Amino acid sequence: MSDTGGGHRASAEALRDAFRIEFGDDYKVFVKDLFKDHAGWPLNNMERSYKFMLKHVQLWKVAFHSTSPRWVHNSYLAALAAFYATKFEAGLKKYKPDIIISVHPLMQHIPLWVLKWQALQNRVVFVTVITDLNTCHPTWFHTSVNRCYCPSEEVSKRALLEGLEPSQIRVFGLPIRPSFCRAVLVKEELRKELDMDPELPAVLLMGGGEGMGPVKTTARALGESLFDEELGRPIGQLIVICGRNKSLSSTLGALEWKIPVKIRGFETQMEKWMGACDCIITKAGPGTIAEALIRGLPIILNDFIPGQEVGNVPYVVDNGAGVFSKSPKETAKLVAQWFGPESGELKRISENALKLAQPDAVFHIVQDIHELAEKQGPLSRISYPLTSTFYQSP
Ligand code: UDP
Repeated sequence: MSDTGGGHRASAEALRDAFRIEFGDDYKVFVKDLFKDHAGWPLNNMERSYKFMLKHVQLWKVAFHSTSPRWVHNSYLAALAAFYATKFEAGLKKYKPDIIISVHPLMQHIPLWVLKWQALQNRVVFVTVITDLNTCHPTWFHTSVNRCYCPSEEVSKRALLEGLEPSQIRVFGLPIRPSFCRAVLVKEELRKELDMDPELPAVLLMGGGEGMGPVKTTARALGESLFDEELGRPIGQLIVICGRNKSLSSTLGALEWKIPVKIRGFETQMEKWMGACDCIITKAGPGTIAEALIRGLPIILNDFIPGQEVGNVPYVVDNGAGVFSKSPKETAKLVAQWFGPESGELKRISENALKLAQPDAVFHIVQDIHELAEKQGPLSRISYPLTSTFYQSP
């Protein structure tokens, strides 16, 4: 995985937690950023480059589309693989994995090449879990994987077009942390625990792991629209989760508010905040969308990253689980209506969201990986040529 955004880590942690729930100590799962720990520039700098490009979004758009043809990304990644082969080999030697699960589009080619060079390709199970819901980058689709888990039918169609065999593809949904679906979450108790107003309807505002999109302007507009001037009292409360965007949280924290507001940084228990709220405003991040669907939250999408997130908008809107609005004022007005005369609409959208949710996807994925590993034979037979000792599977 890589901490480019928050979604890849969240999916990796979801898989780790599901392995633990389903198989106890039978598997030892390491969540690792292969490039950060076992590569040099530019791969070990991906988080910063990604953030930089998203700030200059046209740059990201050009990078996304210009690297889409297979010959372009294949030659680029092959060159990097050759350059950093020994470092990657050292990474493999350190963990001696029986199974490798990639949850990042750039983390198929290089590890698969290294496995091939080590004659381990047929002995280590290698699977990809795609974390984009629709318009994903073609680097996700490597024809040498044992399995490619696609979160939607749209993505599986793309996988077929990119040359994967139907036997390599499974469609279960996006893996979401089991805490979203397995824990019993009671709204009243969560509000008490999170020190929120027990009565007022609540809107959650966020922008992925990096706190991106028009969060500041939307928060200010909500501060106005959720205050009833005639009655002189708030009609709703606002929770803003800024993720790793520290300047956003300090700017919002310095403002004066007429409604109850909580400004938070990077939260590790998102299921609680979502469980305590009545709707969500977010950029079209696949992780946040899938989590919100599980919690039955009507979604207002206010932004998307060009390329991989474009298709997430129709996924939500066409399925009646939310709306798209680029205007902070319109967004704020809509929330005020949902919290007032149009509460029936809020309920209807919430029901649609629940219908679209796939809370068990993560369990189906780990079960399937387990079956693949079993077919591969006793895992403890794998020996790594780089080391003199045999790896003992737990
Ligand atoms: N997230 C989190 N804590 C935060 C903000 C975000 O755990 O404070 C998680 C969020 O629950 C989701 C992921 O980060 O699982 C964001 O993924 P998404 O695909 O929506 O967007 P990305 O950040 O990858 O662009």
